[in-house]
Formats: sequence, C-alpha cells, structure tokens
Amino acid sequence: RLVGSGAEGPDEEVIEAALRPKRLDDFVGQERVREQLGLVLHSALRRSRTPDHVLLSGGPGLGKTTLAMIIAAELGQPLRVSSGPAIERAGDLAAILSTLAEGEVLFLDEIHRMARPAEEMLYMAMEDFRVDVVVGKGPGATAIPLDIAPFTLVGATTRAGMLPGPLRDRFGFVAHMDFYGPEELEVIVRRSARLLDVKIADDAAAEVAGRSRGTPRIANRLLRRVRDFAEVRADGVVTAGLARAALELYEVDERGLDRLDRAVLRSLLATFGGGPVGLSTLAVSVGEEPETVEVVAEPFLVRQGLLARTPRGRIATPAAWTHLGLTPPPPPGD
Ligand code: ADP
Repeated sequence: RLVGSGAEGPDEEVIEAALRPKRLDDFVGQERVREQLGLVLHSALRRSRTPDHVLLSGGPGLGKTTLAMIIAAELGQPLRVSSGPAIERAGDLAAILSTLAEGEVLFLDEIHRMARPAEEMLYMAMEDFRVDVVVGKGPGATAIPLDIAPFTLVGATTRAGMLPGPLRDRFGFVAHMDFYGPEELEVIVRRSARLLDVKIADDAAAEVAGRSRGTPRIANRLLRRVRDFAEVRADGVVTAGLARAALELYEVDERGLDRLDRAVLRSLLATFGGGPVGLSTLAVSVGEEPETVEVVAEPFLVRQGLLARTPRGRIATPAAWTHLGLTPPPPPGD
C-alpha cells in the first residue's frame, strides 16, 4: 500500500473490515457505478453466467476493495484476494488461476503493478479461461495448455493510465470511482458512528465529512480521531466544536488538506515560486515517493483548484497562495 493512503495498522484494518458495507444497497454514493454494476451482476445471475470482468479505477480509500467484496457477495461466490505486487512470476498467477472454483471472484488489487509475463498469461485466462504453463528453459521449453474454471476478475488500480491497452480491453466493465461529495461522506460518517457506537451531533458529522478529502477511508479515520478526543477531553459525545478542535490537533485544515498536501503546496510555492516544477523534483523536496505525491496528494489538490498539471510541470494556482496565506511573486516584466 502507498504511504499515507492505506490502512495504517492492524487495528485500522479490523475496524475497516467492520465498517465495510456488505451489499450493493448499503454502498453509499457512486450512484452511476452502483447502478451499472448492479445491472451487470443481475443480468449475469439471471442468465446463470459468470459476469464480465470488472475494472475499478480510482484513488486509495474510495471503496475499490469494498466493491470487490460486494460483487462476490451479490453473486453468492467466494472471493480470492491477491495483488499485482504479489505476483512476481507467471507461475504465481498460474498457481492462483488453476485453483479457482467455477464462478469464483478473483480480486487483484494494484493490478497495474503485476509483472509483465504474468500480465500476458492473464490476457489469455481472461479471454479463453485457459493458460499456457511453460515448463523447462531454453530450446527445450514446452508450453502445456491448462484449462481453468470460468471466473470473474475484479481488478483495481489507482492509475488506470498505467494499464496496458490489451489488459484494459479485456475488462467488459470499467468503473471509474471519483471523490465523494460532502453529503455522501456525511452519510458514511453517521453510518460508521452508529456501527462504532459513537455519539456524534449532525453538525459534527458534517464537519468531519467536509474535511475528509472526498475519501471514505479518511472520513472513517477522522471519525475515530474525533471520537478519541471527545472521550479523553469531554464526555464522549462528539460536538462540532470538539470535532473542529480535534481536527486542528491532527493538522487537518478546513478544506481537508492534511500534512502531506500542505507540504507539497508549500514546497511548490516557497521553494519553486509556484512552478512549473517536475513531479519527481517536487516529491524529493517533501521526502516522498513520486507515486505517493501523484496518487495521494495531487488528485485532491487539482480537484480543489489549488494545483494544476501542465506539460511543463506542476504549477500552483492563485488560490493556493491565498490558502497558505502567501503572496504570489509579481508577474515577470513588472
Ligand atoms: P480502496 O480499496 O479503494 O483503497 P476500501 O474499499 O478499502 O478502499 O475502502 C476504505 C474504507 O472506506 C472501508 O473501511 C470502507 O468501509 C469505507 N468505504 C469505502 N467506500 C464506501 C462507501 N461507498 N460507503 C461506505 N463506506 C465506504
């Protein structure tokens, strides 16, 4: 998982699992994706066929894993879970594919990070439910064809653009998951509070939702931080005032920018005069991997109108200067 984006520890993983909606009807927001996916699944069920392979693309914490579990649940099938980075050789993939039961759902997270030979094996498996297992090396190597049970692949990626065309084309349904709106996040916060037995005022739920960067995982995480704060500093009931004080303590600002977001913006403004600057230079200046900056911080900053990606590099918008309380340099030639 990417730094700062995934589950942060065993405790968080347990809580995340507990908060996951189990059926499509409990999944909040992403109206269009939900409706389209519902059709794909139900028509497959009516025809007693395995549905098309599904690709879920979108940033970390937007509900890709949750949807994969829901797909399996709606189909009444078990879910097998693996991920691109875990599949280093074609043999790793063959081992998984050859043990799938008919109709089973295979979830491959971060599918864009799978090794090349495995990717090619996957093309064939997706299309023909068959793989060629290569035995031996050099001129004596032989390919043994192996039939596999019809299955449904659910691939997830934070970077749809990194997926090779031939792989992308083999998914019958591609869903793009976008950031959630504040009202949707508010519903998620209230639902999670109920499940975690946390008393939270409506305006406090709105406060948490508004600072969650459009991301359910962050909404759930911030909810737990304000709960901790309300338990230690007050009687456990989360009011709007307590929520604000807690979020300030955890360095989440009114627009939902966290420490990494602000570090990226500050560096772009103060060190690079507002840009343009290349992604890797910017990432080094904040001590992060380029992929973390690109996948975790930037989409939200772009969406907030604080940063723009241009062919010459990243640039700050005037709103970025205002947000950090800095004065932009005078335009050249003045
Ligand atoms: P991803 O796989 O995209 O990184 P997850 O599916 O792991 O994201 O979701 C992270 C957390 O956010 C989970 O605990 C899940 O309960 C919650 N979540 C995500 N999407 C929704 C949603 N639409 N409704 C309610 N909770 C959600």
